[in-house]
Amino acid sequence: MGSLVTRFAPSPTGQLHKGHAFSALSAFCFACETNGRFLVRIEDIDPTRSTRENADCILEDLAWLGLRWEQPVRYQSEHLSDYTAAAGQLSELGLLYPCFCTRSDILREIEQAGQAPHGSEGPLYPGTCRRLSEDERIARLATGSPHALRLDLEKAVALIGAELHWQDTFHGPQIARPELLGDAVIARKDIGTSYHLAVVVDDGLQGVTDIVRGEDLFDATHLHRVLQALLGLPAPTYHHHPLLTDSQGHRLAKRDRALTLRSMREAGLTAKELRTEFNLPEFFFVEA
Ligand code: GLU
Repeated sequence: MGSLVTRFAPSPTGQLHKGHAFSALSAFCFACETNGRFLVRIEDIDPTRSTRENADCILEDLAWLGLRWEQPVRYQSEHLSDYTAAAGQLSELGLLYPCFCTRSDILREIEQAGQAPHGSEGPLYPGTCRRLSEDERIARLATGSPHALRLDLEKAVALIGAELHWQDTFHGPQIARPELLGDAVIARKDIGTSYHLAVVVDDGLQGVTDIVRGEDLFDATHLHRVLQALLGLPAPTYHHHPLLTDSQGHRLAKRDRALTLRSMREAGLTAKELRTEFNLPEFFFVEA
């Protein structure tokens, strides 16, 4: 059996907080306990929200936490052609359609319909552009209208032709229910890819066998399983851990500046104290 590969894949749209530290430490310890490999990947596909400063600060925080990871770190912004190629594969299968809708078009359409099916991320895309005729589509593309590419989920499910499953150590065996996300955006208008596509492609390319991440991404996995099946990638095992909350029971967010690792460090917290708070075995760690 090959060795287990885990990863921590932050988006450098802000600084790490305690919740990220818990996730990164859990993935790292899992790799150490199983004699596996631990990778760090910087998910910086969105140039308007990601910065190099945040990425550098994240790596510094991870080293401070006592983690070690394989080099080189993969920066998604340097591999956009991999995601374009994967979108091309889906497109060749006839599973993507251009979507010209703006956010407000979608909201208007949903309002007019009176009632829209809801998924885990709010109302589902009502399928406006999926219903365009071939001539309308060609005409709109010819005008150079900006467009995203969406997955035609019904077609994708029909092509796969079988139920998809995944194993989740925290939640047990799962059957994929991609209808919770509907016709998801696979390539955004502005960046030509999406979180969902890039994460699935990279986990496949990097041979990630075990994904340790927060429960907030649990529902995205329904779609990730579909993308894995369509792209011929293996299904990793998932470990969607509960999210840390503050004293009022609210999820920690990047905007809570007081809880960033940086500010806690500055206030005198040591990495060892944090690891002890999380109840992690000390012998895996090196002091930065
Ligand atoms: N980049 C994502 C985030 O920071 C996490 C991706 C993942 O673990 O699959 O929320």
